[in-house]
Amino acid sequence: MLGIGLIKGLAETGRNFVGSYLDPDRLVTVEYPEERLPVKENFRQFPFLVFDGEKADIGLRCVACQICEKECPPQCIYIEKSKDKKPDHLGKPQFYPAVFDIDISVCMSCQICVEVCPFDAIKMDQQFELSTADRFRGLLLTRDRLAKPNSHFQAIHPRDAAEIDMRRVDERAKAEAKAKADAEAKAKQATAAAPGATKAVASTPKPAAAPANEGAIS
Ligand code: SF4
Ligand code: SF4
Repeated sequence: MLGIGLIKGLAETGRNFVGSYLDPDRLVTVEYPEERLPVKENFRQFPFLVFDGEKADIGLRCVACQICEKECPPQCIYIEKSKDKKPDHLGKPQFYPAVFDIDISVCMSCQICVEVCPFDAIKMDQQFELSTADRFRGLLLTRDRLAKPNSHFQAIHPRDAAEIDMRRVDERAKAEAKAKADAEAKAKQATAAAPGATKAVASTPKPAAAPANEGAIS
């Protein structure tokens, strides 16, 4: 019959309307902003920069390689590389971003910057209440506004964060083992090359030479 779908839809709406007075679970809306629905783990808004430890200026994972800046489709990332270096989580000296800006009035939340970053330094945030009357500087997120601790990443994306944390612990352990092995090899070389060691080798008595005819068949 023509219009049967419409009648069914209205019946369902009426059932939920009346039911919501009897059972709060049937309410399909909440009183935002006083009430908020929890966001899903895969929900994403704009990127943020992850730092380890307590201080963003020391723990920022970004090494200013600028891959994300090049790959961002609308070109809304701006990076200036530092002149000096600081050690990364493996102890390797690395550059860091002296300037790192994202213009979120342009960002389209595509997550390409996250996917191309080789250092797990940039991740998607879930903060969405970012409206501002200042349409220029208010929507330009600078390095200090972008930097958030790893604990924030762990809270919003627990599965991804756990996997990355494990990988980074593993990488650090391997780097430390390699550094230790290299140091031991260097120490051995240095001992072998030391003048005392050379002398000791030189002064080791040689076995007496056998007479020329020893062993000859008479
Ligand atoms: S999410 Fe996409 S548009 Fe936004 S900064 Fe990253 S790459 Fe650029
Ligand atoms: S966020 Fe990642 S890809 Fe972008 S500059 Fe920093 S380290 Fe490179």
